[in-house]
Amino acid sequence: MKTFQSSWHIICFFMVFNFHFQRKRQPGTTGNVLPENERNKEDMMQITIGLRQHVGAPCQPVIQAGDRVERGQLIARPEGLGANIHSSVAGMVTAIEPAQSIIIEEDSNQPNNFVPIPETSSPLDAIKEAGVVGAGGAGFPTHVKLAGSIEGGCVIANAAECEPMLAHNIAFLEKSPETIVRGMEYLLDITGASIGYIAIKPKHKKALIALGKAIQDKKNIEIKLLPDMYPAGDERVIVREILGHVMQPGELPSVYGALISNIESIKNCALAIEQRRPVITKDLTVSGRVSRGTQVFFDQPIGMPVGNYIDLAGGLGLGSGEIVMGGPFTGKSVTMENPITKLSGGILVAMEFPKDQRKFGILECECGAGNERLTEIVAGMGGTVVANTMCKRMVEVNGRFRCDKPGECPGQAEKVLQLKREGAEAIVTGTCQD
Ligand code: SF4
Repeated sequence: MKTFQSSWHIICFFMVFNFHFQRKRQPGTTGNVLPENERNKEDMMQITIGLRQHVGAPCQPVIQAGDRVERGQLIARPEGLGANIHSSVAGMVTAIEPAQSIIIEEDSNQPNNFVPIPETSSPLDAIKEAGVVGAGGAGFPTHVKLAGSIEGGCVIANAAECEPMLAHNIAFLEKSPETIVRGMEYLLDITGASIGYIAIKPKHKKALIALGKAIQDKKNIEIKLLPDMYPAGDERVIVREILGHVMQPGELPSVYGALISNIESIKNCALAIEQRRPVITKDLTVSGRVSRGTQVFFDQPIGMPVGNYIDLAGGLGLGSGEIVMGGPFTGKSVTMENPITKLSGGILVAMEFPKDQRKFGILECECGAGNERLTEIVAGMGGTVVANTMCKRMVEVNGRFRCDKPGECPGQAEKVLQLKREGAEAIVTGTCQD
């Protein structure tokens, strides 16, 4: 919290929801990594598989309530832009909520094997069948992203693990770098790109060593270092830092011959091609005010409730407050009952909201929490929102406000004064710098 005058405060969203978590991951470490498929076995779970786990309209179910489903079975298809959805468990479909979710009562004994995706005529079709989506962002269908040629360009694996506290991507690189290297080779073949870069921060030394060994015989895959700042994982920051091109807001990396893919998406591509494995699991980081501190869980069934992983992390810690799904900057408030999706990454337990009933101004950043989330935080504290503005680098592109230089963050004094003039007694902000 920064004090400008005795009664003046800027409450930084990141500080409230990160620095005040009970236990902090030390830079470059990944917390405790639990075995794959670790789960709370006390009860048979009710699994809730969302019909919209991607950009585009919800999928249409291809099963009915009362049907039995196997692990890996196709249960919903997209109509238009989207990605196939498969059952993450074996069990009975107990209900279908149209356009929302499929509810499955899982069997007490779950198989380790799965129904493989059908044989396909190309690796790209395998990725499509498996329902791979961008696991680190909004869930853009990966087969659509890969369909455009970037002949002679580059594929960049985004290993920034951009938001603080998240650890599962780096933990996977430490555990299985070869999977990502093989995945990169598939993506190079599919897109016609001539070189692959793995973009990672230098503080992840163990992952760097593991990757260095995995690529030592590879002539067309290199490691590139990113600055240790937020938002280093933003596509425009990656293109600027690695390729030296300044992307305009709204431009795609393909304009510069680049395709950027998250680590877990690349893992899922490799598994789809090599094992015919649909996307039925998710890697997770649980952190914050949980009794056992930061935990990484690999390959957890999509649809499991958030509370399962908080239990596995020792339960809620002392003084715990809101549960946030995602990262501290851009995550969303959830409950114990919310299901894991293809896009879930962090399950973070925050401190209780500090009580503050003042009049608040909101200062938005593209890479941080938006107006809706910041308003929710003010309400959680008991305050009132009286004014709203954005970082001066935000520009409107196609009806959406975008940052024109992510990570090159200006001072916000002018915006602070504006909010003060409009009646704010304190500011809540998700901007990357003050
Ligand atoms: S320049 Fe402004 S909008 Fe862009 S990342 Fe920095 S604080 Fe956010």
